[in-house]
Amino acid sequence: MNDYNDLRLEIPSYAYISLARRGMEKISLDQCFLPNCDNEDVNLLEPFKIEESEDEEKSIKKIHIKCKKCNGTYILKLETLKKVAKPKNSNDEESTLSLGIVYILDENGKNLGHLGYF
Ligand SMILES: [Zn+2]
Repeated sequence: MNDYNDLRLEIPSYAYISLARRGMEKISLDQCFLPNCDNEDVNLLEPFKIEESEDEEKSIKKIHIKCKKCNGTYILKLETLKKVAKPKNSNDEESTLSLGIVYILDENGKNLGHLGYF
């Protein structure tokens, strides 16, 4: 799995951020998520490694991405739930359809935050 193009196919094009009662905002995942970087040029983002794991409840893909603009590395963590449960305290019908959750990690695996759904 070192092929650059194969890795890119593993990355969803968009994620959806929940805006509470105002629905969902669609954002592109073709951007650098590191603080202080505004790179939105997919050609400057190079996925170079993937780690996959799985347990009874979910499968996890961690895609390591190098940004050629800030020279930083971040990890897109894609968590796909096998049992789809309605999130607590949500009346949002769209969110109940979500199967996957996107997290952003820094290169050391530190969680930079829950980004949204894919
Ligand atoms: Zn960057």
